[in-house]
Amino acid sequence: MRLVFLGPPGSGKGTQAARLKEHLNVPHISTGDLLRAEVAAGTELGLKAKEVMARGDLVSDDILLGMLESRLGQPDVASGFILDGYPRNLAQAAALGELLNKIGQPLDVAVQMAVGTDLLVERIAGRAKAEGREDDTPEAVRKRLQVYEDSTAPVIGFYGKQDKLARVDGVGSMDEVFDRIVKAIGEYAS
Ligand code: AMP
Repeated sequence: MRLVFLGPPGSGKGTQAARLKEHLNVPHISTGDLLRAEVAAGTELGLKAKEVMARGDLVSDDILLGMLESRLGQPDVASGFILDGYPRNLAQAAALGELLNKIGQPLDVAVQMAVGTDLLVERIAGRAKAEGREDDTPEAVRKRLQVYEDSTAPVIGFYGKQDKLARVDGVGSMDEVFDRIVKAIGEYAS
């Protein structure tokens, strides 16, 4: 199964995607994780991305597409994938559609994790304490939520128009939300 997770920072998409990976037995591809690995390794790409990420902005579409193209070209993707953190704007959504058409593996479904802003802020504050992510400072969090509203939220409509959108209530225990996701994507399985 090929799916993307959409949702604001703190909506639980990373956690649920990691869990769904075991259930579906497909790779979990997090563009945030791929970028953080580049930053940690000190590559040229990582150096370019570091500052942008720390302030909560989006890294350039070109960098992301190159990274994604090479990841989706790997053999483990033949069984499907869970994409987490991409697409984050309409240009990326269009680029992903083209890329998947080119490799003959169209998307099955986009899962939208719906969570209200107050709870997002609370969850991110909890994560900041636990993980110490550089972009979990209050200023960067505000920026990331704003970027989500401005650039990423329109992607929901993009998949809605293609009848590929499964909206999931992301408020509840981890198990409750996971069960909702499994149920919601069942209809879209290829
Ligand atoms: P995440 O772990 O998905 O919250 O991503 C962390 C940061 O990595 C984001 O705030 C962006 O700076 C960058 N990033 C991750 N995915 C993308 C993307 N698809 N487009 C642009 N920037 C991204």
